[in-house]
Amino acid sequence: MRAVDFIEQKRRGDVHTKDALTAFITAYVADNVPDYQVAAWLMAVFFQGLNPEETAALTLSMAHSGDVLDLSALPYTVDKHSTGGVGDKTSLVLAPLLAACGATVAKMSGRGLGHTGGTVDKLESIPGFRAELSESAFYTQAREVGVVITGQSKLAPADGLLYALRDATGTVGSLPLIAASIMSKKLAGGAQNIVLDVKVGDGAFMKTPAEARALARTMRDIGTHAGRNVRTLLTGMSEPLGLAVGNALEVTEAVQTLRGDGPDDLLDLSFSLAQEGLTAAGLSADRETLEAAVSSGRAYEKLEAWVAAQGGDAGALGRLEAAPEQHLLRAGQSGFVAELGALVIGQAVKVLGGGRAQKGDTIDPGVGVVLHAKVGAEVRRGEPLLTLYHRGKGLESALELLAGAVTISETRVEAPPLFLDTSA
Ligand code: URA
Repeated sequence: MRAVDFIEQKRRGDVHTKDALTAFITAYVADNVPDYQVAAWLMAVFFQGLNPEETAALTLSMAHSGDVLDLSALPYTVDKHSTGGVGDKTSLVLAPLLAACGATVAKMSGRGLGHTGGTVDKLESIPGFRAELSESAFYTQAREVGVVITGQSKLAPADGLLYALRDATGTVGSLPLIAASIMSKKLAGGAQNIVLDVKVGDGAFMKTPAEARALARTMRDIGTHAGRNVRTLLTGMSEPLGLAVGNALEVTEAVQTLRGDGPDDLLDLSFSLAQEGLTAAGLSADRETLEAAVSSGRAYEKLEAWVAAQGGDAGALGRLEAAPEQHLLRAGQSGFVAELGALVIGQAVKVLGGGRAQKGDTIDPGVGVVLHAKVGAEVRRGEPLLTLYHRGKGLESALELLAGAVTISETRVEAPPLFLDTSA
C-alpha cells in the first residue's frame, strides 16, 4: 500500500490490517517513508485512535523492528516503566534498589518527551555516562552489576524514531501510541517481570483515572499475551514528584533518596514499585528488606557501581552542577499551597533548555526548577516557593508559564493521593 493511502485510511477512521501496519513500520525504519508522511499518520492516529488489535500489531512490529533481547539466562529480571511525568526520577532510585534486593534490572529507557523528562537525559547529566552500549557490554554489565540502562540504540528502533517525531508534532498524548511505545520497548527488552507506573493528572499524558486505567489495561493485556508478568500502579501526577525538576537536579535528588535523605513521595513510590517488581519476580518484598537495602548503603553502592560501569564519574554523584543563575519565586500571600501545576513546571524546564523543542536539539542538563513546598504545605507571604536554575535563555517565557503555576488557599488543603485505585 502506498504511504498516502495508508494515511488516508486512518484519517477516515478505517482499521489497518496487521500486515499493512507491519509493512508501514518496516518501511519507516528502513528509511523508505519520510518523516512528514509518518507525522501525518501519527496525527490521524491521534484523532482516530487504534483498536486493541491494531495497537497490539503496532506494538509487535515496533518491538521486532530491531534486536530483541533474551534475558532468560539472568536471574529475576525486572523492568519498570513510567508513562511519563514531571520530576519523575524513580528509575534512578528503583533500579539500584531492586538490584540490591537480588533482582536484575537490565533495561532500555527513553529521553525526555513533551513536557516530561526521560531517564537517559538524566543519566547523561553525569559526566562520562554512556547510555549507548553494545549488546555484549549490556549483558556483561547486567550479569556483573545487576543494573544496566541503555538508550534506544538497536532495541525497538521504530520507537526511537516515532518517539522523537511525536515529541515534535504534538502527537504524544495518544493512548494507543503510548501503549505501543512503552510495550514495544518492554517486549524487546526481554525482562520477564514488568512494572508499569501509570501516571494520572495535570502533569501526565493521561489526565483522568479512567484514561489511565484504560492505558494500564491495554499495556497489561499486550504484556500478558506475550507471556510476561505485568503489574501496574496508578499514581498521581498533579504536582511534580519530589522537589527537583530538571536533569542534573533530579539525579542529585535520587542520590539523596538512596542515601536515606530524599522526599517522602519519591521514597514511597520507589518502595511500592520495588515491592511490585520483587513480588512479580518471586523475591522477598517486605518493607524491612527495602529499608535495610537503603540504610545499609547497599542500594547506593549499586548506583555507584552502575554509573561507574557505564563510564560515569560516580564521585560526582550528589554534586552535579546546576545552572549558575537562580531566580526565586515567592509566595504572594500566606496560606496553604493548593496547586503546583506539574504541566507548566515541566514546560518551564523545557523552555529553560532542559527539554527539546525539536528532534535532535541538545539539552542543558543544569537547568531546572526546585520546589520549596508541596501541595498542602503552609507557607507565609514572601517565603520561597520555587527556584529556577537557568542561564538566561528562556527565563522570560518560563516565568510567564509559571505565573499561575502555584495557587495558595486561605483554608487548609490535603496533599493529593500518590496512589490511585487501579481496580475500578
Ligand atoms: N513513555 C514512553 O516510553 N513512550 C510514550 O509514548 C510515553 C511515555
